[in-house]
Amino acid sequence: MVLRTPPPSRAHLRLLAATDTSPPARRRDRYGEIADRRLAAILAAEDVAEEHGLSAHVRTTCYVHRRWVHQCISDPMHVLIVTGHRWCRRCDRTVEVQVDETFPGTVELFCDGCGVPPDSVANREVLRACRTSLSAMHGGEASTLYVVPDR
Ligand SMILES: [Zn+2]
Ligand SMILES: [Zn+2]
Repeated sequence: MVLRTPPPSRAHLRLLAATDTSPPARRRDRYGEIADRRLAAILAAEDVAEEHGLSAHVRTTCYVHRRWVHQCISDPMHVLIVTGHRWCRRCDRTVEVQVDETFPGTVELFCDGCGVPPDSVANREVLRACRTSLSAMHGGEASTLYVVPDR
């Protein structure tokens, strides 16, 4: 038995495009009250980029807390046991984050159980996102907003 997919429908494509041009009102206002307009712009840009495939784990801004990600990464909401972000699998416990915002800024991970910074793909993503977030925050006066890390 052969399964057939229907031929692509142009009407369907037009329908999607029409929806795209008028995003829901809540998105336009979502970051309206944030005083730092550059942060608000990057938040909105990363929301759109995420819809187009950007991984939430590499974002420099946080959709939930509406801040630079290094400013809220220590919130329990950023502990993702399933994916291992801010989680030590050796000890089955939360990985703590220490952030110093003073230019150029540093971010360190540590585990109170084993003492060793847990070097997993997920925790490396946490570090990279926070470091990029720090440089994005400090890059306010630079002509280039921020540099996207190439892994
Ligand atoms: Zn957050
Ligand atoms: Zn540990």
